[in-house]
Amino acid sequence: MSIQVHINGSLVPKEQAMVSVYDHGLLYGDGVFEGIRVYGGKVFLLEEHIDRLYESARAIRLEIPVDAPKLAAQVKEVVEANGLDDGYVRLVITRGAGYLGLDIRKTSHPQVIIIADTITLYPAETYETGLLVVTASTIRNHPGALSPRIKSLNYLNNILAKIEGTDAGAGEALMLNARGEVAECTGDNIFVVRNGIIRTPPTDAGILEGVTRNAVIRLAREAGITVEETPLVRHDIYIADECFLTGTAAEVIPMVSLDGRLIGDGTPGPITRDLLASFRELTRRGGWEDAEST
Ligand code: PMP
Repeated sequence: MSIQVHINGSLVPKEQAMVSVYDHGLLYGDGVFEGIRVYGGKVFLLEEHIDRLYESARAIRLEIPVDAPKLAAQVKEVVEANGLDDGYVRLVITRGAGYLGLDIRKTSHPQVIIIADTITLYPAETYETGLLVVTASTIRNHPGALSPRIKSLNYLNNILAKIEGTDAGAGEALMLNARGEVAECTGDNIFVVRNGIIRTPPTDAGILEGVTRNAVIRLAREAGITVEETPLVRHDIYIADECFLTGTAAEVIPMVSLDGRLIGDGTPGPITRDLLASFRELTRRGGWEDAEST
């Protein structure tokens, strides 16, 4: 059976799920999105993703035509319709169709698209061996130009950096901000471990505030590990004992080299391994019990 896609409140086979060529999501990357995981048939950290989606939309003055509880219910509906046990949901809101011009007043009907499918970002062995990463020359969008906190449909900044990583044979590319500090990787947040302390760049380093990042910070603190949100430079990564990346698709993935320098002994470290295990445990539990249900 064909995958069912939710579009503007209806479930349709994916071949029939379409948007206008005049949609500003297509013409200008004008829209917002979320990527969400499904584990054991349950949508993981749905509340957090829905919150971020509405925040991104607010920042670009895009009014999502359904309210948050209804959207959350639609996400669950499409997951169920596709009988997904472990999978990935892509929630997209476009500005809607308009004319050939930027003016949002001439657009109407933002499109609400929910795709439920599967995803494998990295092969299973990479979680054992770790990722090799290079620094991209493309810097992360300046927050004064387009805040990286907005998860917008315009991902060219990240794509250009990702191309550099791929060309270099690396699994990910590190992006610096305009101050030369570490921001994040093209689709993942970054953490370093040194002398038992975990550090990660703060949101004002110009990063997407990852849902997985926040979950991992909480897990680490619950395990009694100090976590600091503090500016980092590449030197902090070169001299780290351990390094790992977090993201919805990537989960917690060890990073063992940057720009040809081995991190620690070049294998995934114990804190990284423990956090990956406790993150996977959290996915099996379906999140924290204190999370509000949607
Ligand atoms: N940074 C960027 C640029 C991303 O696109 C993503 C999501 N793929 C992340 C970080 C990780 O965010 P999350 O944990 O919410 O998936």
